[in-house]
Amino acid sequence: MYYCLDCEEKFERPYRKAAKGKPADKTDYCPYCDSKNIEELVVEYCRCCGRKLKNGNRRYCSSVCISRGPKMYERQEKRLIKLRSSPIYQIARKIAEYNKKNNTDLSYGQYVALVCGG
Ligand SMILES: [Zn+2]
Ligand SMILES: [Zn+2]
Repeated sequence: MYYCLDCEEKFERPYRKAAKGKPADKTDYCPYCDSKNIEELVVEYCRCCGRKLKNGNRRYCSSVCISRGPKMYERQEKRLIKLRSSPIYQIARKIAEYNKKNNTDLSYGQYVALVCGG
């Protein structure tokens, strides 16, 4: 979401002026008044239920979510930690490291054949 400082309209996306035969103009304009004075609005979502947050709310949309949210967040964290210690994740990380170091883009199969399979 964007906001125009001149006409105070809100809009989904700014528009760019395209001129034929010229390199694209990368300037963003307000679709209502043609102003370049626009700002991107950061829309935050509730960490618990995923609803868009209304003005002023941070992290959670309601008191119900505030009381439920941290527990849910904790559960997600635990799941992530478990996932990170799984063998598949470990191998995926090794492949990513190997690719970075050797400037390659090996898939899982290629990596196993090359590095583990000998
Ligand atoms: Zn405007
Ligand atoms: Zn919520």
